[in-house]
Amino acid sequence: MNNRSYEISARTGTSFDLRVGDKIKIVSPHGHQVADFFAFNAHEPREYLSARHTLVSSTRHLYPRQGQIFLTSLRRPILKFVEDGANEQHEMLLAACDPARYQLLGVKGHHASCAENLQQAMAMRNIVITEIPQPLNLFSSTRADANGNIITHPNSSQPGDYCIFQMLMDCIVVVSACPFDVETQFPVNVGGPHGLVVSIENYGADI
Ligand SMILES: [Zn+2]
Repeated sequence: MNNRSYEISARTGTSFDLRVGDKIKIVSPHGHQVADFFAFNAHEPREYLSARHTLVSSTRHLYPRQGQIFLTSLRRPILKFVEDGANEQHEMLLAACDPARYQLLGVKGHHASCAENLQQAMAMRNIVITEIPQPLNLFSSTRADANGNIITHPNSSQPGDYCIFQMLMDCIVVVSACPFDVETQFPVNVGGPHGLVVSIENYGADI
């Protein structure tokens, strides 16, 4: 087994190569920081982890939880959520932040975003992403209430919270340390934004 760790600086994103069986662990050292998580079939990136297909054909649940199998846009298993060290503070309700969101919030000039972090990380592999998949928003306290309203509560994730996913196919995974820092009614990254730590466990990989 080979174990490697990487730091993702605040406001940035990074891509990772994983083979079937590998595990990826995402850690939030500071807490209160959302990680946008995307995964693609390494051999055909037009097939990607799809929250909507997962919800219909696998989990039948609004929120990512330990033990769930996630599906691609072709409804094939892509990864399993094997360990939740963050007390189920995750969701897949909100689209990734993007330039249009910051513009709507009144930000002048360029603002880093999870959508652009994804596009830039994939562009380094010569893969063009035009449609941004729904991310798994790890360490997020956004919830639907009993009336169906979607409420962003102050991010309650704690320092050291983590998630571990195991690949069920060869994947490119992208993790973005969400740059959201606009003072609004949406307390997404309380006290941040902060960076993240990612570690990869390779099982049987000859590297
Ligand atoms: Zn974001």
